[in-house]
Amino acid sequence: MSFKPHQGKLIVFSAPSGSGKTTLVQHLLCQDFPLGFSISATSRSPRGQEKNGTDYYFLSETEFQSKIVQGDFLEYEEVYAGTFYGTLHSELDRLWRAGKHVLFDIDVVGGCHIKKQFPKQCLSLFVQPPSMAVLENRLRGRGTDSEEKIKQRLAKAAKELTYAPQFDHVIINDDLKTAQAEVTAIVQSFLHS
Ligand code: 5GP
Repeated sequence: MSFKPHQGKLIVFSAPSGSGKTTLVQHLLCQDFPLGFSISATSRSPRGQEKNGTDYYFLSETEFQSKIVQGDFLEYEEVYAGTFYGTLHSELDRLWRAGKHVLFDIDVVGGCHIKKQFPKQCLSLFVQPPSMAVLENRLRGRGTDSEEKIKQRLAKAAKELTYAPQFDHVIINDDLKTAQAEVTAIVQSFLHS
């Protein structure tokens, strides 16, 4: 291990869904950085090929609520009405003990909470789609959400874009290769600082 657990760093990626942040996060995880992905807990059901303990810890709403009461979450959010998402303290312990800095793919409010709790240790990145029209095309292109869900996500995206100035860096994800190179350079310099 190259650092003590409490010296581990945090790198937060937040963005409206459909901005391509997950692709950027996956790209970083394939580089030669000592990074581990923070697996969030959620009360939603798995989609497609998603697996418990890999993509999310899938909990029932009752299980999620009891973890809130026990103080198990570093942050949690009712991201969509009736659907909870949160970061467990145990994820930081797990990854830091393994000698990895923690990479988060979470919503903008959760991202701001984490940055506030770890102002120096945390790098916060906001991934912005080039326009709302591009975002809408991407969401439809994924083919995973109903029309109603797409409308919900677009309404939420408009609000989320107003959080961009609170982040350390804003990455405009127009050309994927350019965005990948940009985040790699930012993360490299943060990890060496
Ligand atoms: P999805 O259902 O598409 O996987 O995720 C929906 C939203 O929940 C995304 O914006 C995602 O970033 C956010 N999210 C995932 N995990 C967490 C978390 O641990 N905390 C918070 N606040 N948001 C999360």
